[in-house]
Amino acid sequence: MMGPAHSLSGAAAWLGVGAAAAAAGHEMPWPVLVVGALICAGAALAPDLDHKAATISRAFGPVSRVLCEVIDKLSYAVYKSTRKPGDPRRSGGHRTLTHTWVWAVLIGAGASVLAVAGGRWAVLGILFVHMVLAVEGLLWRAARVSSDILVWLLGATSAWILAEILNKPGNGADWLFTAPGQEYLWLGLPIVLGALVHDIGDALTVSGCPILWPIPIGRKRWYPIGPPEAMRFRAGSWVELKVLMPVFMMLGGLGGLGALGII
Ligand SMILES: [Zn+2]
Repeated sequence: MMGPAHSLSGAAAWLGVGAAAAAAGHEMPWPVLVVGALICAGAALAPDLDHKAATISRAFGPVSRVLCEVIDKLSYAVYKSTRKPGDPRRSGGHRTLTHTWVWAVLIGAGASVLAVAGGRWAVLGILFVHMVLAVEGLLWRAARVSSDILVWLLGATSAWILAEILNKPGNGADWLFTAPGQEYLWLGLPIVLGALVHDIGDALTVSGCPILWPIPIGRKRWYPIGPPEAMRFRAGSWVELKVLMPVFMMLGGLGGLGALGII
């Protein structure tokens, strides 16, 4: 899928988690619902850091371009060293390592550790990166025509404001993990979820997605998971724009209402 569909599905997924959490007795204060949905929208672009034309690889100027090259090389190296006889030869790392559940869990756990151990500036940094991505993903063309600097300023400002709101007592810095010292531990959850939702979205497209790596399936360790061929679509096709995106919006809306206890 393309950036906007990925981001929208990420936001909708977090709102759905909000509804499930409310049903399970862990209501999210509204700032957790909103910030989580935005983080998840941003995190749903992150796996494409292995592809230089992707939004995320262009979102932070030279920093993300260099990171993209490193990630692509790393992914390719991991692919080559772990492939089984049934896995095809390939020439680059796109849709390999960063499109697995292992990667999703690692970056989410990494962000949680960073948020808990690094204090205020770490939280601001995580928020900044994801707000920039959320703006790029959700506003897509509108963000494209403006300059990178404007998007970064918007990301920085919203990160600052949202951190201020979350910090107020009762606003959810300690949502789900309530012991002292566990503030912001939950920040990793929308990051894991965003990456997984991205992988599932890619799995629906023609090439599939090796989400289960390194669990071997038959003669493959990088088995491209996906529905039967007839149900798959091309990235950016009308199915994505006219069917999936409105469905994500509707599900997100329902999830949000459920999370806030309105329905
Ligand atoms: Zn992808």
